[in-house]
Amino acid sequence: MSDAELSGFVRDVPDYPNDGIMFKDITGLLVDPKALSEAVERLAALVPDDVDLVSGMEARGFIVGAALAFRLGVGFVPVRKAGKLPPPTRSLTYGLEYGEATVEIREGTVPVGARVMLVDDVLATGGTAAAGAELLEQLGAEVVGLAFLLELEGLGGRERLAGRSVSTVLLAG
Ligand code: AMP
Repeated sequence: MSDAELSGFVRDVPDYPNDGIMFKDITGLLVDPKALSEAVERLAALVPDDVDLVSGMEARGFIVGAALAFRLGVGFVPVRKAGKLPPPTRSLTYGLEYGEATVEIREGTVPVGARVMLVDDVLATGGTAAAGAELLEQLGAEVVGLAFLLELEGLGGRERLAGRSVSTVLLAG
């Protein structure tokens, strides 16, 4: 499947959830078996050898991340929004354009030294993925790469994740 064909399964929704945001809706990609398989195979091709775990950001990162983990034959660690996981958890609070957000991981799920691939559906400013990677590292993981289905160019995501291995399946202007 070509880039253009795969991109065709992603719907642009203007001004959602706020004015000025072009929301990338991957629901159509998830519901189509060929597009889902293509996306997961393309993600798998971006993963270095010998990863121990895939981790994914809530919520769409859970969908693509769990599918990728299954494809690779490794386990999956969810990075959740605050207040969803039972204790014990480790959390990290990070700054947003307005306010802040907190992400959490269940303690004991990431062995020290584990080679972890972090995934999400969309890379925008990079703040969400940076927080997930930092939290994984605080737990002793080695974040060997970050992979996204879609990279929104011009929002500074690459710069925010400078020094990390970042790869994306599709680019969006
Ligand atoms: P950011 O932290 O700015 O890189 O935002 C990435 C996170 O927000 C990911 O978990 C995405 O699911 C979500 N996100 C940000 N911008 C968009 C967008 N335009 N369309 C869909 N999801 C988005």
